[in-house]
Amino acid sequence: MADHTPSRRYSAFAIAREALRMHTGWKRAWAKATPKDRYKVVVVGAGGHGLATAYYLGKNFGIRDVAIIEKGWLGGGNTGRNTTIIRSNYLQDPSAAIYEKSRSLYETLSQELNYNIMFSPRGLIMLAQTEHEVRGYKRTAHANYLQGVATEWIDRDRVKKLCPIMNIDGPRYPVLGGLYQARGGTARHDAVAWGYARACSDMGMDIIQNCEVTGIETVDGHVTSVSTSKGNIGCEKLALVVAGHSSQLAGMAGFRMPIESVALQALVSEPIKPCMDVVVMANTVHGYLSQSDKGEMVIGGGTDGFNNFTQRGSWHHIEETVRALVETFPMLSRLKMLRQWGGIVDMTGDRSPILSTTPVGGIFVNCGWGTGGFKAIPGSGWAMAELIAKGTPGPLSAEFGLNRFREGRFIDESVAAGVAH
Ligand SMILES: Cc1cc2nc3c(=O)[nH]c(=O)nc-3n(C[C@H](O)[C@H](O)[C@H](O)COP(=O)(O)OP(=O)(O)OC[C@H]3O[C@@H](n4cnc5c(N)ncnc54)[C@H](O)[C@@H]3O)c2cc1C
Repeated sequence: MADHTPSRRYSAFAIAREALRMHTGWKRAWAKATPKDRYKVVVVGAGGHGLATAYYLGKNFGIRDVAIIEKGWLGGGNTGRNTTIIRSNYLQDPSAAIYEKSRSLYETLSQELNYNIMFSPRGLIMLAQTEHEVRGYKRTAHANYLQGVATEWIDRDRVKKLCPIMNIDGPRYPVLGGLYQARGGTARHDAVAWGYARACSDMGMDIIQNCEVTGIETVDGHVTSVSTSKGNIGCEKLALVVAGHSSQLAGMAGFRMPIESVALQALVSEPIKPCMDVVVMANTVHGYLSQSDKGEMVIGGGTDGFNNFTQRGSWHHIEETVRALVETFPMLSRLKMLRQWGGIVDMTGDRSPILSTTPVGGIFVNCGWGTGGFKAIPGSGWAMAELIAKGTPGPLSAEFGLNRFREGRFIDESVAAGVAH
C-alpha cells in the first residue's frame, strides 16, 4: 500500500527543524504506488496536464479514487522539456478565457500547492517586426482589452527600454513595437509537475510510473479497463492526457484524432550575468528567448518540418534558430550553446487544444496543446476535471470539443498568433 499520509508543510520553520536533525524527517514528495484492481478515474499521462486534471478532480469535485499512469517518469514528457513561457494574450475569446484562467491560477499556485513553482511574472513582449505584425498585435491588444486580459501595444522605444540588449534597428527586421503582457513570464516546469504530484499523492491518489498503457478495453461502447505493463486496471472513466501520443491511445480505443505529432526543439546557452529580465518572442523570424535563474539564455524555435517522435535536438536547428535571432540579439553570436533537446508535441489544424468527450463512453481526451501548453496546465486541469466529473463540458472547455473539426468551428490561433509557444 502506498503511504498517503499528508506531507508536512514546507516552511522556513520546517527547514530549520530538519536542518537540526540531518534532514531525516522529510517523507517522499509523492508515494510510490502499485496499481489497484480498479479506480473511479484513470488518468493516462503524468505530465502537467494529467496531474493538474487529477488535482482539480480531487480539489474541486472530491473525486480521489484516481490513478495517474505514466509510461516513463513523472514530468519527463513535454512538461519537463519546454521553455516555460506563460502568457494569455491570445486572439480568440475561448483561448483567452482558458489561458487567462490558467495564468491567474499560476499567480498563487506556489501558495496553493505549498510548493515553490518559481512563477516569475517578469513581463513578455511579442515583437512586431513587419507591418503585418503591427496590425495583428494592435488587433490582439484590442481583443484582449474586451476579454479582460491585461496587454498593451508598446512602441519601439519602450521595447528597447524594457530589453536594452536588443538591437531594434536591424537591417532586415527592425523592431516596430510589440504586444506587451506585464504579468506574463515563466515558471519552473519540473516544479509545476512535482507540486501537483505531491498534492495528488497527499489526497490519496496513486501515481504509477514506469507503467505503459498498451490497450483499452470497452464493453458496449463504454470503457471498462486499460491493459498496462503492470497488469489490467479497471476504471469507470478514463482520461487520455498524453500529448504527442494521443493518436496512439485513441487508436487503442478505436477512434481517430485530428492530431499530428512533431518534435519541437529548444536549447540553452552557457550561463552569463543577468542581462535580460523579460521574455521576448520574435515570431516573424521565429525564435524566442528568456534568461533562466541560472543565467542561461533559454532559446526556442519552431517545430520540425515533418512528423516524428524523436525527443532529441538536431544540429541544423541550433544554427537556424540562432541565425534567426542574432540580428535582433547580436550578443548571441558571442555565446556558446550548452544543451539542446526536443519534445513530441501534439498539433491540431487550428492550433487550439482538444478537451472533449469521445465516441467511446467514459473516455475523455485532453491534448492538442501543441507548442504552447505549459502555460495552460492549471487552467486545462481545472476545465478537464469539470468535464470528467460532470460528463459534459463547462464554460472553459465548451468550444474545444472534437466535434468542432467536423462542424468547421475552428478556433484559429495559428494565423492569429503566428507562433503558439
Ligand atoms: C521544446 C519545447 C518548448 C516548449 N515551450 C513552451 C513554452 O515556452 N510555453 C508553453 O506554454 N508551452 C511550451 N511547450 C509545450 C508544452 O511543453 C506542452 O504543451 C505541455 O507540456 C504538454 O503537457 P502534457 O502534460 O499534455 O504532456 P506531457 O508532459 O508530454 O505528458 C504526457 C505524458 O504521457 C505519457 N504517455 C504517453 N503515452 C503513454 C502511454 N501509452 N502510457 C502511459 N503514459 C504515456 C508520456 O510519457 C508523458 O509523460 C514546449 C514544448 C517543447 C517540446
